[in-house]
Amino acid sequence: MEKITKTSGLVSVKTGELPHRTNIGGYGLTYIGNFDDVLCADCANQWDAEGIAENVVGGFVHWEGAPLVCDNCNCAIESEYGDPDEEGTG
Ligand SMILES: [Zn+2]
Repeated sequence: MEKITKTSGLVSVKTGELPHRTNIGGYGLTYIGNFDDVLCADCANQWDAEGIAENVVGGFVHWEGAPLVCDNCNCAIESEYGDPDEEGTG
């Protein structure tokens, strides 16, 4: 799992927001808060640019495995390639 550690560098200069997806490939980005909490892009963007730099320590693409749960809004963050342990039913 490749983590993006300098979150502040990710903040768009134009909008002051974190991207929802990677520039290359368009993969969904998940963020890590300063309490090791998992944040969906929507929740990571709840702060302004300065707050993001303070409260979001990194981001990553959730490539594979069971969905993560955002610690803030409890939404499911699906992995890009799904869960290999989950036997397909269809
Ligand atoms: Zn969330």
